[in-house]
Amino acid sequence: MAENKRDYYEVLGVDKNATDDELKRAYRKLAKKYHPDTNPGDKEAEAKFKEASEAYAVLSDAQKRSQYDQFGHAAFQNGAGGGGGFDFSSMNMDDIFGNFSFFGDIFGGGRSQRGYNGPSQGASVLEKMSISFDEAIKGVEKELTITFKETCSTCGGSGAKAGSSPVTCSKCGGKGQVVMQTQSFFGMARTVSTCPDCNGKGKIIKDKCPDCRGTGYIPKTKKIMVSVPAGIDSGQRIKIAGMGEPGENGGERGDLLVEVRVGRHPVFIREDYDIFSTVPISYATAALGGTIRIATVDGEVEYDVKAGTQTDTKVRLRGKGVPSLRNKLVRGDHYVTLVVSVPTSLTKEQKDLLRQFEDSLNGDKTDSDSGKKGFFKKK
Ligand SMILES: [Zn+2]
Ligand SMILES: [Zn+2]
Repeated sequence: MAENKRDYYEVLGVDKNATDDELKRAYRKLAKKYHPDTNPGDKEAEAKFKEASEAYAVLSDAQKRSQYDQFGHAAFQNGAGGGGGFDFSSMNMDDIFGNFSFFGDIFGGGRSQRGYNGPSQGASVLEKMSISFDEAIKGVEKELTITFKETCSTCGGSGAKAGSSPVTCSKCGGKGQVVMQTQSFFGMARTVSTCPDCNGKGKIIKDKCPDCRGTGYIPKTKKIMVSVPAGIDSGQRIKIAGMGEPGENGGERGDLLVEVRVGRHPVFIREDYDIFSTVPISYATAALGGTIRIATVDGEVEYDVKAGTQTDTKVRLRGKGVPSLRNKLVRGDHYVTLVVSVPTSLTKEQKDLLRQFEDSLNGDKTDSDSGKKGFFKKK
């Protein structure tokens, strides 16, 4: 059975005088490396894990260590010990791997923050809120209806029926966690997990409060005022601390996150902190120049169109864009595209005037280039 068993010190890679701390460190390292859950299906890793666990189980126990130092593997060969099983029940995995969860600590993640009887903060709650384009530019105080879990007034939040109170969980003795000895791949393992009876709370409510059904909270519709900062854009969230789910075991409430949806504007298009719009100008204004009024988020502003302005001319109105979320006084710009509009329905009189105008242009050409024009005219 123990014919070709490796020396325990060798297995752990420590020398014979290793301190308990050194043993623990060496084992922790090996256990993490060879744990079957991180090496699924790897028989060799599993064997190494068992080997290291066994070595540590022996060497971490002062009595067994001294027996081993005296007699080697022979010290533990009494008894049939079928299947190479080894009793690991004396190993304290908490001690080796730190608090609570042996497996959680090795594999990281996936470990629930709930339970274990300590205070834990409540979850965040996400709500959506629609605001108008103008409200996003100017900022707004807006009412939002949320569902808020209020402490149950009947039981005062205990969750227990009047006249009763939560009792200490008998399964875990109020600790919220249970230690389980399990037969596993390497023998007996001692693992710590959330108590299944009380869900980690440490207390059990036998007679549940009828109003909150034992939760201690009653969801209520509540209206709150949300302060929306100027410059907010679609998809951005406003955090309201302490308005989320209640915490557990005295933990703080989670936060309320309000995600904003900004409505469209019939004229303005927003891109980050800039605003874009199109403004029609008449042919006469484009040709002769003139003052027009342009709508901005601050109201109308006057703008002097230069004579001879072409269609699709872009104009920048500095500082007429969206305020920065950080500083209201810092604003983007408003870009206006001036489009010369062509009339679609004209009276006969207007048509005649336009023809005269067209003819006059030809006339102008004659003036400016009389020789050439004259030549064509004669022809
Ligand atoms: Zn209640
Ligand atoms: Zn329990």
